[in-house]
Amino acid sequence: MAIDFSFGPEVEQARESIRQFMRDTVKPRYRELADNKGATRDDWSAAIKALRVEAKNKGFWLPHMPADAGGMGLGVTALAAVAAEAAKVPYGPYIMNAHAPDEGNMHTLYHFATEYQREKYLQPLLDGKVRSCFSMTEPDVAGSDPTLIQTTAVQDGDEWVINGHKWFTSGARGAAFAIVIARTDPEADIPQARNSAFIVDCDAPGFELVRDVETMSGSHNHCEIRYNDVRVPQANLLGERGGGHKLGQVRLGPARLAHCMRWLGEIEMALEMLIERAQNRFAHGSLLSEKQSIQWMMSDSAMELYAAKLMVLHAAYKIENGMEFKQEVSMAKHHVANTLWRVCDRAVQVHGALGYSTDSPLSGMLQQARWARLADGADEVHQMRIAEILMRTYNETGSINGATGALPL
Ligand SMILES: Cc1cc2nc3c(=O)[nH]c(=O)nc-3n(C[C@H](O)[C@H](O)[C@H](O)COP(=O)(O)OP(=O)(O)OC[C@H]3O[C@@H](n4cnc5c(N)ncnc54)[C@H](O)[C@@H]3O)c2cc1C
Repeated sequence: MAIDFSFGPEVEQARESIRQFMRDTVKPRYRELADNKGATRDDWSAAIKALRVEAKNKGFWLPHMPADAGGMGLGVTALAAVAAEAAKVPYGPYIMNAHAPDEGNMHTLYHFATEYQREKYLQPLLDGKVRSCFSMTEPDVAGSDPTLIQTTAVQDGDEWVINGHKWFTSGARGAAFAIVIARTDPEADIPQARNSAFIVDCDAPGFELVRDVETMSGSHNHCEIRYNDVRVPQANLLGERGGGHKLGQVRLGPARLAHCMRWLGEIEMALEMLIERAQNRFAHGSLLSEKQSIQWMMSDSAMELYAAKLMVLHAAYKIENGMEFKQEVSMAKHHVANTLWRVCDRAVQVHGALGYSTDSPLSGMLQQARWARLADGADEVHQMRIAEILMRTYNETGSINGATGALPL
């Protein structure tokens, strides 16, 4: 019997230690600050910095990176368990230096960077000394289709000159550098070979941070940026010329799954809050937890979460074992994002006015959950890709098995 859903003792130990650290150290400090209405930005910043030092000293640092990059060297499957633990507490992933978009950028640089780029850009990121951002989406064309990107990079001697307009570049304010996707080869036969990636210093002349775009949940450093004749040396071309799309795909596969891992933690947190509230709130002659309609919310959420965990673990297993993972990651991303949305919504419902208020973290979680269904591949785009692979597999093999997890059943 080869199927085994348990981790080895080392991973279990790491998971348990991180769970304890998040629950006993990070959470109380977060609550202390959240409850202190007078806490300033500096107070938050100092507390988070101190927690990062503590996490690093304990070895809870870079769970997504291999050991030769200073990471925990967990492998993708074990990472799922650890990342979900970290996400049960606000700022948990950041405290472990495993937050988006740095986490995806670290992977990208680890796989594509030259020696020079590793030393100048990757190392400070791994050390937690700087932050970075990923600048692909543009306001004027559909972000769902990167072959439409209009930002250009034109070669001029040993330099590239970048011009364009981006937005939703998360984390740009305060970042040291951006990985920018720009069109370098408009005539390339394959649309996917038209773009290249560049590392751009955020203090380069012509890098104009226009604004922090306000979202339905306030301002979270998702920035609008204009690139006005920004010059970067040839040495800052990341990966091969025309390889921007490929790089984006390599980045987005595991990065999408990393989002799912964090969302699992949030789903669990929302469902636990729902159960807690339902077992303590009395109305119309009984506790909410005794009412069938509320129990259905619990059981639907439990079933969806269970499926979400299995999908994430299986997609992680495929990545870890060098197997084709596109279909599984798409299905997991779609399912987990929608489960997050539904479970947060149910938890708000059961909390009534409290759930809608900012006294509870649920209102913020619900707002954040909304973007999960449209960023990193909108629901419909994943569904389109899933159906494409499903039909192709069926037509080529006479069976849909290979496009539904390729499981031995
Ligand atoms: C919180 C947040 C953070 C983000 N961070 C970053 C970042 O760091 N860097 C970055 O570059 N971008 C980032 N983005 C942008 C994100 O990647 C894009 O929003 C996403 O790719 C969709 O692009 P778009 O917004 O232009 O929507 P569009 O491409 O215009 O799509 C809009 C809608 O059209 C529909 N649609 C699109 N294609 C199809 C199709 N083929 N079939 C059916 N329906 C379709 C879908 O419903 C989709 O939601 C972020 C976005 C958010 C909300």
